Amino acid sequence: MPEKIAGLAAVGNKGADYLAQGLRESLIEITEGDAEDLLSWTKANRLINGREVNLPFSQRGIYEDLSPDVVVRKGTQVFISEFLVNLSLWAIDTKYAERGNVLYMMPTQLLMDDFSQSRMDKAIEESPYLNRRFVKAMSKNQANRARLKRLGGSSLHMRGSDSLKQAISVDADIVIDDEVDWFSEETVEWTRERLGSSQQPLFRAVSKPTYPGQGIDLMYGDSDQRQWHIKCDACNRWQTIDWWKNIVFHYDDRIQAVTDVKVLCSNEKCRQPINHLADGEWVAAHPGRRVHGYHISRLLSPLVNLVAMAEDSLRVSDIPILQRFYNSGLGLAYAPKGGRIDSSELEYDSDLSLHPADSGFGGVDVGLKLHAAVIEKGESKLEVRQMEEFDTFDELDIWFSKNNIRNCIIDARGDPRATTEWAEKYPGRVYRWSHIENTNDTRYNEDTSEVKLNRTSLLDNMFGACRDGRMVFPHEIRSIPSFLAHLRALVRELIKDPRLNKLIPRYVGSAPDHYAFALSYAVLAAGEDGASPPPQPIEKVEVSFAGQKSAPSWTGMNKARAWRRVG
Ligand SMILES: [Zn+2]
Repeated sequence: MPEKIAGLAAVGNKGADYLAQGLRESLIEITEGDAEDLLSWTKANRLINGREVNLPFSQRGIYEDLSPDVVVRKGTQVFISEFLVNLSLWAIDTKYAERGNVLYMMPTQLLMDDFSQSRMDKAIEESPYLNRRFVKAMSKNQANRARLKRLGGSSLHMRGSDSLKQAISVDADIVIDDEVDWFSEETVEWTRERLGSSQQPLFRAVSKPTYPGQGIDLMYGDSDQRQWHIKCDACNRWQTIDWWKNIVFHYDDRIQAVTDVKVLCSNEKCRQPINHLADGEWVAAHPGRRVHGYHISRLLSPLVNLVAMAEDSLRVSDIPILQRFYNSGLGLAYAPKGGRIDSSELEYDSDLSLHPADSGFGGVDVGLKLHAAVIEKGESKLEVRQMEEFDTFDELDIWFSKNNIRNCIIDARGDPRATTEWAEKYPGRVYRWSHIENTNDTRYNEDTSEVKLNRTSLLDNMFGACRDGRMVFPHEIRSIPSFLAHLRALVRELIKDPRLNKLIPRYVGSAPDHYAFALSYAVLAAGEDGASPPPQPIEKVEVSFAGQKSAPSWTGMNKARAWRRVG
């Protein structure tokens, strides 16, 4: 209901409503004719969580940039989705370029529908102005309102890049490719062509980056490469806010946590605190290039959690977390250090020697031979005890008891029948590993004595433990023929998955790699780092006490039964 205007009460409620309506409509017409700019429109008409929009300074330049081609390489939670919502609604509300047609694309229709409801509809509902504007249009278009919004002859089409055919007839004035790293190249070209008939076409591509030279990183590289510069009040030096140059923090070993994060001026002679959210200006590295490119890291967002980012930045051997730190946090593409491990990266301990374990964790690779690895938990590190090869499962039985194996993982791929029979001899202590796609979770099944884990994660855990010194080797390991060659046989590469059209990490190798897998299984059996430990066997007598253990379990550990790590 429009607000009553004072003094009109005399003509009765109905009359007042009518006059107020007429007055408001005439005002809207004036606004429409004015071709109001996006920034003023946003301030006048958008409310976010009931409040007026308060844009970070760095966003203004992006709102004001009406050049034909703009790309944004960004971290997450940096308000760019909000910008794209505003751009879309502004365009259809003000009939941008006289037609006001927008094509908004996301990687899948499912994502797009969800975005349409959670962001577009919410924006409309929260704004009294937009609510009034859309209320009529919406009721006429009930059927397809998640994918098409019409307003006075202008249309906002919202499509997934996986359902292109449905968008075939769209003539757009603005094309928005959101999360473009997950689009195929053909899709990007196809959306660009939708602008052919526009008087003032705007192409906007934004994404969280993934790997260098791909998608948005490639687009940004070809652009004029704008960075946000701010001035230090203490020394007057202009600078970008760079994680490595501006952020300092303390890591407290006692509590194993980051404390005291500071943002300091990058000038070595100054090092005074600097406000990373201060006003500043966009500076292009390559002025004059046709495409305008903006880089927005989360350091420019008032929502940034610097402590969490600092903690992620320290997880140097946890590749998925480091990937997230770069991509979602800094808005930078990142290719993990990987490739092939070098023998100089292994940490040797002169006090160690090859000998049977008192309490071992075992891994067995099954091929023409059985390659077996044993590690043991030292005071703070995993210590490598044995690397051996056997011909028969009988020999493996002797190995098992000699090393007092607590938990053992064996390759399920080589000889399913033999490994199943062998695993059945050691219920709750031997699990058969197989690969599972698209998840980093470790999944144990006690009934079938199986464990499933992604092959890349399995090997990442082991190589990570080697690289960051969580696992130490005796010097004698070099005397084992082919051990180092097997470790070096696997090369971590980024491979294009044609189905998902994105790069994914894979270990590839043509040389024998049996000890590398045997050691990976042993690390998994020990339940180190990213991998969940196997379930802890508990004696039957204890089970009846239902949680109140009368005695420690045979493993000597009092940990609760852990199936898989959550989250
Ligand atoms: Zn300074």
